[in-house]
Amino acid sequence: MTSEVQDHAIVARCGGESAKGSLRVIRFGEEARLKRALKAAGACLLIGCVCLCIPGAHFVLVPLTILLAPIVVYRVHAQRTKILRAEVACPKCHNPVAVLSSQELYPLFENCGSCHREVKIEPG
Ligand SMILES: [Zn+2]
Repeated sequence: MTSEVQDHAIVARCGGESAKGSLRVIRFGEEARLKRALKAAGACLLIGCVCLCIPGAHFVLVPLTILLAPIVVYRVHAQRTKILRAEVACPKCHNPVAVLSSQELYPLFENCGSCHREVKIEPG
């Protein structure tokens, strides 16, 4: 299965009030997750090669890149969804809430940029 873009209805809750919104996510299939993980591995390898050219610092940066690369690759492979766009208003002040979370793991907690209240976002 390859990646597919989906639109989901969401509900933002804050202090007993709620507002509806929508979320556009891309759901990665196994093949797409593997490709993304291989790209991350290639990026780590490239960063390691660039670090090799830095005199002195390469003694630290290259082993650090080698140690961190499997963690980065694992985390990229584990990511099943990515939020592309979110449209939801704060239930209290009705201003748009910026959804900064990268994955669709409910409940999402975001802070309203206008009234600074915590908004809980759940599937609608
Ligand atoms: Zn607000």
